[in-house]
Amino acid sequence: MTDTLSSAQPSADLPTATVHDAEQLESLSPITGDVVGRYPVADAEAVADAVARAREAADWWAALDFGRRKAVLDQWRGVLARRMAQLADVVHRETGKPHADAQLEIGLAVDHLAWAAGHAKKVLGPHRVSAGLLMANQAATVEYLPRGVIGVIGPWNYPVFTPMGSIAYALAAGNAVVFKPSELTPGVGQWLADSLAEVVPGGRPLLQCVHGRGEVGDALCRSGVDKLAFTGSTATGKKVMATCADTLTPVLIEAGGKDAMLVADDADVSAAADAAAWGAFSNAGQTCVGIERVYVHESIADEFVRELTSRTAGLSAAGDVGSAYGPMTLPGQVDVVRRHVTDAVERGGRAVVGGVEAVGEAYVQPTVLVDVPEDSSAVTEETFGPTVVVNRVASMDEAVSRANGTGYGLGGSVFSKAQGMTLARAMRSGMVAVNGVISFAGIPALPFGGVGSSGFGRIHGADGLREFASPKAIARQRVRPLMNLTSFGRTPAMDKNFAAVIAALHGRATQFRKR
Ligand code: NDP
Repeated sequence: MTDTLSSAQPSADLPTATVHDAEQLESLSPITGDVVGRYPVADAEAVADAVARAREAADWWAALDFGRRKAVLDQWRGVLARRMAQLADVVHRETGKPHADAQLEIGLAVDHLAWAAGHAKKVLGPHRVSAGLLMANQAATVEYLPRGVIGVIGPWNYPVFTPMGSIAYALAAGNAVVFKPSELTPGVGQWLADSLAEVVPGGRPLLQCVHGRGEVGDALCRSGVDKLAFTGSTATGKKVMATCADTLTPVLIEAGGKDAMLVADDADVSAAADAAAWGAFSNAGQTCVGIERVYVHESIADEFVRELTSRTAGLSAAGDVGSAYGPMTLPGQVDVVRRHVTDAVERGGRAVVGGVEAVGEAYVQPTVLVDVPEDSSAVTEETFGPTVVVNRVASMDEAVSRANGTGYGLGGSVFSKAQGMTLARAMRSGMVAVNGVISFAGIPALPFGGVGSSGFGRIHGADGLREFASPKAIARQRVRPLMNLTSFGRTPAMDKNFAAVIAALHGRATQFRKR
């Protein structure tokens, strides 16, 4: 027996995955505990069916030119922008984040969609490259072809912005997508799929959702998709990569972080404190590129802590409209936050705002910890909560070395009037905001992703488009070569000439200077 996945706004015509049993996934409001929606769980067969349907859609989509694909994606962009409040409501209900924050992530995702659709032709379309002197008789062309079907596995913390970093760029590159949203935010994923279906000619399933828990993600990894884009924790990323290895499915891993902010002695302290507060506490600290550590020069450390404390004083977590941020979306994360804060305090750190008592059942109030030992779990592990460690350093070299001291390397922030770019380059991370925080994520042309335990591969920007495409290299002979070196008709004279040409071209490159 088969039936069709329901959604917050069910429609029989929409491209949803077929399911083969009646097991239901319930999404709950973290504020009230109410059921927000129910979604049939897809089994492995349903995932395979979705991928098979996506493959047909992908063939149709890939055959369109860039302009026609852009026209469809532009229509979708219009729908998203016009119905932003409606989608923000689904985000609010499933994650508990304030409506305005939901709107912010949707607005940025829409801007990314515009960039991806608008730049796909320029970045991916055919272009000539130099054939070089040795192959001067050839015309060399490179173009980036769609991969086919992209599997996307997403987290719950930014359920629109984060998966759209893969979905928008994969679609713009000419692929179809099968998306497994987090079990906490299935309604958001379904809303995205349904809204795209409204503007795709013939209702072709360019974007489908498969709902469920980790097993469904696992099934997607095994389904034969042409690439798997994963965003989530490092631990799950490792499992995803191991599963995909079985079928040699390429993976993109956007994993966790422990991002640091460096504040130099020439920084605008007030601006740095303002940015640290937003970077640490917004979205209840459930931001992969949120600020979890601050290394501040000792000469301005007291002033910085005073400024940060005063900015934090007015912030509180609650479920009402006026609150700075909402509840912890994933209930189990509260235990991690409590463990980190407890460890920091027990080992000599001080909570100048909040503390262990600030960690409640569903809400965690802002917590600023100072002078925390560098080997405390609050410094070494991803906390993913509204807490921040502020440690003072004697020099910015020390700040850089401490910032680079974890296995993670996602984003970072630097505040300095004169040394911003130097410090940014010294940070071991994929992205850095200078005199700002998280700003790189809102610039569509900038690639987004990390190094080390934060993963590899990039979404956003030209790199993000290429991530979902296969480079195709074509060498076309324009004229016959003067010497045909790849023929058994090659003569000793040609070999001699070839050696002479190579010596002339490259022979002096490694000459040592005469003393
Ligand atoms: P998880 O790693 O728990 O889950 C991520 C996704 O993977 C979910 O959809 C989950 O399903 C799914 N999943 C779980 N097990 C498997 C499996 N064995 N095979 C395939 N898929 C599986 O992360 P969270 O959802 O808790 O997200 C928070 C994490 O995401 C943080 O570490 C954060 O730093 C990171 N993150 C990274 C970003 C980046 O761009 N680098 C951006 C945003 C978040 P389900 O939850 O439904 O069980």
